[in-house]
Amino acid sequence: MATLDFLKQALRQKDNATASSPKQPLSETQYSAGFDILMRGSGWMTYQDFIIPQLSQLLAPLFNSRIHISALEIGPGPKSLLGYLPGHLRRKIKRYTAFEPNGLFATRLEEWFCASSEAEYPLPCLENLPNIHQIPFVLQDNIESSTSTGTRDNDEKYDIILFCHSMYGMRPKHKFIERALEMLIERPQGGMVVVFHRDGVLHLDGLVCHRTASFPTGVVSVANNDKVLDCFAPFIAGYIMQDVGLDNAIREAHPDHLLFSSPNVMAAFTKHATTLPELTAQVPLVKGDKMVKNREAGLHRPASIVRPTEVRHVQHCVRWALRHEASLAVIGGGHSGHCLWSNVVSVDMGAFNQVHILTAGEDERKCDVDSCSLIVVETGCKTVDIVGKTMAAGLIVPLGARPSVGAGLWLQGGIGHLARLHGLACDSIVGAVVVSVDSGQVLCVGHVRSQHWPVGAVRPENETDLLWAIRGAGTNFGIVISITFKAYTVPTYSVRNWIVPLRDHLEARLRLSDFDKIIAGKLPRNFSADAYLYWDNDQLSLGVTMFESSKSMLAFETPTPSLMGTLLGPEHSFKAVDSVGLFDTEMYMSGMHGGHGGGKTSSFKRCLFLKDIGVVNIADILVAAVKTRPSSLCYLHLLQGGGVVGDVTADATAFGCRDWDFACVVTGVWPRDQDGTEAARAAVRWVYHVAGDLLPMSTGAYGADLGPDPRDTALAAKAFGPNRPRLARLKRKLDPCNVLVYTCPLPKAPMEQKLILLVTGESYAGKDYCADLWVSVFTTCAHKSIKARAVSISDATKREYAAATGANLNRLLWDRAFKEQHRPALTAFFQDQVRQRPRLPEEHFMNVVHGAADVEVLLITGMRDEAPIAAFSHLVPESRLLEIRVEAREETRQVRQMSHGDNDTSDNRKDNKESNNSRSNLMTLNYRPSFIFHNDTIGNEATKRFAENHLLPFAHEDLQRLAHMVRQVPDFPRPGIEFRHVLGISQQPGGLALCTSLLQTHFSGDWAKFNAVVCCEAGGFVYASALASRVDVPLVLIREAGKLPPPTISVIKPASHISCLASNYSKEKSIEMERDVVPRGASVVVVDDVLSTGETLCAVLQLLGKAGIDAEDTSVMVVAEFPLQRGRELLRQRGFGRVNIQSLLIFGGA
Ligand SMILES: Cc1cc2nc3c(=O)[nH]c(=O)nc-3n(C[C@H](O)[C@H](O)[C@H](O)COP(=O)(O)OP(=O)(O)OC[C@H]3O[C@@H](n4cnc5c(N)ncnc54)[C@H](O)[C@@H]3O)c2cc1C
Repeated sequence: MATLDFLKQALRQKDNATASSPKQPLSETQYSAGFDILMRGSGWMTYQDFIIPQLSQLLAPLFNSRIHISALEIGPGPKSLLGYLPGHLRRKIKRYTAFEPNGLFATRLEEWFCASSEAEYPLPCLENLPNIHQIPFVLQDNIESSTSTGTRDNDEKYDIILFCHSMYGMRPKHKFIERALEMLIERPQGGMVVVFHRDGVLHLDGLVCHRTASFPTGVVSVANNDKVLDCFAPFIAGYIMQDVGLDNAIREAHPDHLLFSSPNVMAAFTKHATTLPELTAQVPLVKGDKMVKNREAGLHRPASIVRPTEVRHVQHCVRWALRHEASLAVIGGGHSGHCLWSNVVSVDMGAFNQVHILTAGEDERKCDVDSCSLIVVETGCKTVDIVGKTMAAGLIVPLGARPSVGAGLWLQGGIGHLARLHGLACDSIVGAVVVSVDSGQVLCVGHVRSQHWPVGAVRPENETDLLWAIRGAGTNFGIVISITFKAYTVPTYSVRNWIVPLRDHLEARLRLSDFDKIIAGKLPRNFSADAYLYWDNDQLSLGVTMFESSKSMLAFETPTPSLMGTLLGPEHSFKAVDSVGLFDTEMYMSGMHGGHGGGKTSSFKRCLFLKDIGVVNIADILVAAVKTRPSSLCYLHLLQGGGVVGDVTADATAFGCRDWDFACVVTGVWPRDQDGTEAARAAVRWVYHVAGDLLPMSTGAYGADLGPDPRDTALAAKAFGPNRPRLARLKRKLDPCNVLVYTCPLPKAPMEQKLILLVTGESYAGKDYCADLWVSVFTTCAHKSIKARAVSISDATKREYAAATGANLNRLLWDRAFKEQHRPALTAFFQDQVRQRPRLPEEHFMNVVHGAADVEVLLITGMRDEAPIAAFSHLVPESRLLEIRVEAREETRQVRQMSHGDNDTSDNRKDNKESNNSRSNLMTLNYRPSFIFHNDTIGNEATKRFAENHLLPFAHEDLQRLAHMVRQVPDFPRPGIEFRHVLGISQQPGGLALCTSLLQTHFSGDWAKFNAVVCCEAGGFVYASALASRVDVPLVLIREAGKLPPPTISVIKPASHISCLASNYSKEKSIEMERDVVPRGASVVVVDDVLSTGETLCAVLQLLGKAGIDAEDTSVMVVAEFPLQRGRELLRQRGFGRVNIQSLLIFGGA
């Protein structure tokens, strides 16, 4: 598939050859028509799947740290990109400016902002009209020359500046970004400039980006008809063309639509973008052009490549990255695609190239292996350096098959010919020296001999965790300086090759099965057998290499086992070699495809772990893969596992995939002189395609070389077996700023707290429909993978009812009309059951919760209980429980009832209506659900938007971040109590700002409609005052008696829960507020630090009642709630059930 860039070049070349007159620029209408074609259909997918989710994820922390956001978009086209962000982010934007030189676009943009209904405003909280300048963004003072406003406001500063659709026509690009950086608001946390760019690499000399992401799979599909192409081709070429005709080759490939690959990149810059000189003043740069082995990585344009020569240089790199919110890439052997990354600093470890051999007995710490010989390897070493040096000392470390591969191999696994005998390379790691990417400190873990212990290095608190993580996921947790391996006696090898031509896929399947079961499966551990499936000389072939290791050369003189001859035919070659000689025996280098163009090829690999390669469904995929290879050079390499690899338990090291017989390396190969062309892209696509087919059959995937490419996500999900959650937690702890972000992606730490949503409401209001849709909003949430499920709690009753009455259970469960017919009887049945077993509702609730232990978000429908949050939250005190009541108008419900085929107008309807009426009117509820969703509109937009705006925020990491700021203090205020220092959030860096921002955004009401923020000393004062100032609502203070000037009103307040726990507490006190400080009938929000037993809150609400404030006009926001203390239930019993209560954090303890 050609790229759009290729199309542009092809069109321009063709035009240059035919046209002589000067190029005529496109009119606004022509440009607009071309743009519309680009954005239609699949072009929009790039926005939906990449740009909008990336932007939302990137901007969320910035937006949460601000009350107001001021935004500038450069070249937004007819619609603002920011207008597609989730509602809670859009609502933060108070000022909006755009530079859109195309007059048609500028007008459409203005219309988009203004013409839609209020509910649909893209940026609903703008304080002024959008400021749309119909001029280009230029390097000089832009606004000065603006004809549209005539104003000069070049002092205008923004929190966020967006180059929306590439930076075409802006040269040099880095100057435009530097200009935008100058326009960022100067605050401690600054703002951000974000660029979205089509067609791959963005060259921005000397600028360092804060974050970058790519979307290589973007596709633009264009209808293959003259009218459309006549519009589209000039748009891509950039000027009016004499002869638009597209290459026939392109047209014929896809008769209806032309498909173009349209990769996209995002780069985000902060004010730190220009701080590179600070680093290069301290750390040497690599000399000349750095060539890395991975040719695709070589196409990236790093901001700089530094080459530390001392450990302190590496520390400088990390500290610079931490100070300037930058990331780093690391170069070991340079074989992966992630050692160089555009606009990112790469740290070349090449100067750390020493190998030290510590023979048995030299190590001070006892080693648990027979041979205590250890090898210390610095991470700039290549495999050949290590093998050469250790072999001379009679030792070996199990490594991989290629001499030039570097540290990435042994840090991420390391599969080699000794794996069956000695395990993976990472299994031999017993110690490491690492520069922490959290602090820049040098850490020593495991066996590190004193002479290899860098000055100032320390043993970290979490040494065991770090050593565990380095053994299999070691590129993710720090910059590793050296590794200590345990070593083994060096063997020699015999290598025997067979090449078996395969007639068809049946024979292929048979041979693979024989090879697996009869040959490989029977080999002793000092043997390993590799297989290759490839196409050569017009023939599908199976290559087999058998390696035998032995301490004595003589052993190899034994002839080939006769079984091998019978199954594979005559031996093709035989060699006896030492460990260095072994490198030259690899069949893919020496035997296949004429030696792969003398090595002048590039490759791309992904590796999956398989068992039973001969079974039909696996063998067929393998054979089909070779048959569909895009170039004759592509092949599959099956490396044998088992033996010691499988003996190590999955959780013993981070390398959790242990249960496999073969590592299948899907290898896409193309001639080196076609790097960066369609041939290379096709090979990469093929690799992902085959890997995708094999993934469901596999027992895991190799983490090495997986990276930020979205196509790696599915593979990474299977990369570490059961160790993923532990690795995710460690990543958050050991690399909290994501300095090493371009490594094998680990999942975001799973939601630490389960979210249980009770979806309640009237019959036919659409509860089940909404619950299902909300499940999909959670599970498809772009920036997090959330496991969600909806279940009906009434299914248990239906089962018991069916068993008792003989009613058809399936129909009760699935046939809506049938269920409604039985509703009165079901209700009576349930009520009768509850009379006999009063705790039945709780039992049902807990059964449903336990049944969904595997999900992070559980939606429960079918609940019939009054005030379920107050009634049940103490049963799940570690989870967040919310009730969403779905409401719909009577007519809407009737229509839905009819459409479900329930035309019953008789008693059932009456009964149904009665039961509805008893619950339908919210005014008759004597409690307040957490949210009410009005489900009257047709279509699912409003339902989805509700979830995005009100439910998804509960899954946001910021809440977890806040929870982590709450320190636990054991045995305070008395032994046995684990105190949560909620007020201590305000003492943490950024804690108060984060907490107040979350209080503001999580509040379900409209701040503008409240007259006061009320707080009671002392905890409430801290958060309420910061919040009141943020939302610009007056603050009302409640204090202990005697501290406020008269006239006051007062009530008795029992001691708070935590005071009761202290030994010297005083029982009760009066609290008071100034009498006329809030007008009677006002609406207020009470803000407090904690809701525990609810006694304090009850007193506050009583006091507000005395002041003439109704419970219904009162909302409560607390920072933390302790459901075990049943505060909500107390409030309900005391008549405050209709108060709206929300909490940011839920804690299980006291
Ligand atoms: C031709 C070829 C043959 C291969 N053969 C084998 C094989 O036989 N067995 C096998 O298991 N795998 C094999 N692989 C896969 C190989 O293990 C990975 O490609 C590995 O990532 C390469 O490591 P590197 O150091 O050469 O590459 P690099 O690109 O330099 O590094 C790979 C990753 O490691 C990180 N990294 C490097 N050094 C450090 C450090 N000091 N601290 C922290 N992170 C660091 C980098 O940031 C990068 O993410 C092969 C790959 C190729 C291309």
